[in-house]
Amino acid sequence: MIQINEKEKCCGCSACANVCPKRCITMVTDEEGFYYPSVDLSECINCMRCETVCPFLHDEKGKDVLVSYAAKSRNNEVRINSSSGGVFYHLAERFLSDGGIVIGVAMDDDCKSARHIIIRDVSELARIRGSKYIQTDPMTLYETISKTIKGGQKVLFSGTPCQVNALKRFVGKDDQNLFCVDVICHGVPSAKLWEKYLNYRQAKVGSVRKVSFRYKKDGWKDYGLLLENEDHQFFYSPKQTDSYFQLFLKNLSLRPSCYSCKAKTERYSDLTLGDFWGIERMVPDFNDGTGASLIVCRTELGMELVKTIRDSVELQEVDYSVAIEKNKTDFISVEKPKERDCFFKDLDNLSFTKLKKKYVRIDWLKEIKRRIKKKISSAKK
Ligand SMILES: Cc1cc2nc3c(=O)[nH]c(=O)nc-3n(C[C@H](O)[C@H](O)[C@H](O)COP(=O)(O)OP(=O)(O)OC[C@H]3O[C@@H](n4cnc5c(N)ncnc54)[C@H](O)[C@@H]3O)c2cc1C
Repeated sequence: MIQINEKEKCCGCSACANVCPKRCITMVTDEEGFYYPSVDLSECINCMRCETVCPFLHDEKGKDVLVSYAAKSRNNEVRINSSSGGVFYHLAERFLSDGGIVIGVAMDDDCKSARHIIIRDVSELARIRGSKYIQTDPMTLYETISKTIKGGQKVLFSGTPCQVNALKRFVGKDDQNLFCVDVICHGVPSAKLWEKYLNYRQAKVGSVRKVSFRYKKDGWKDYGLLLENEDHQFFYSPKQTDSYFQLFLKNLSLRPSCYSCKAKTERYSDLTLGDFWGIERMVPDFNDGTGASLIVCRTELGMELVKTIRDSVELQEVDYSVAIEKNKTDFISVEKPKERDCFFKDLDNLSFTKLKKKYVRIDWLKEIKRRIKKKISSAKK
């Protein structure tokens, strides 16, 4: 029976809860706001399926890199409304038009949490576009996905590397109807922190109805957070000065397992998508400031899938080892800051304003220089 003695060794994928035949495992949040399994021992029959499915309890080789591409949607609107170069949108569009279903992450209506949802029609795709920088609520779709692919329908699943690995262990790794896309992952921040931040912002801007974590008003590299309230007013906060982003980018708000991520080095995905940081050096033609993607193909299925979107996406093959020079989080976990545990101890005790004061340090001089530079360069255009 699954037992979490070290929090670093659970990614919260919820595969154990989904596989349990007695339904005696529930996912509960800890004081930091991250989900962990809790077993009702009086119901447990010791079938060990929870341990068998757990991606953390098994060492596997993972897939090697077959080929990598720099990529960029040919559609400006798609690039602007996606986090990177918009590749995911085109993969999803292709899947839907071929009769498959797509599963990706959407924000809930109150914008406090995010979860995996099923998309069956291209008109709903906008809901799962874009990165949501919070850990998703526990996935409940394992059984549905398994039944769908066994029934012969194709499924495109997109998530973090640990979520993909969990799903693959649940349904069987080589099912040809399941296509998995994972992301180059910095780590996932606590949804409890996000809710605290949102409440702090809502006290000033009113009820928030939409969130974009990668709004590209100042370009792809200088993205920021955009909130839309119920009166359709917009509030923009650049990542350089936004407290939630600063806590994320300084690695203070991440799940314990993200500091020693096992999934990054044992990926089972068909494709990995990320930002192509350093594109200006490697493929300058793709660098128009609206976004570029790195695609890493790990299976033949992944390579075939990329071929199907050639009409919609510009592609150039690149050397993986050079392409990830500025994006080592593809295979290396971020470092855990010394203040991290102290920060989470303060999460319940301090108001967001006090947390911000204690843990967020903004280099205003650097920020003012950045803004001046930006103004000068846009005046020149
Ligand atoms: C938490 C997180 C951290 C990331 N860190 C990095 C990084 O360090 N370096 C890097 O190059 N790229 C990182 N990425 C990936 C990058 O932000 C883009 O998601 C990726 O390049 C795909 O972009 P796109 O333009 O093709 O499509 P997009 O439309 O932007 O991608 C959307 C898909 O991403 C998945 N997704 C979004 N939010 C979540 C979530 N909370 N949990 C699981 N899956 C989610 C969805 O299923 C969604 O449908 C991260 C993404 C996430 C979600």
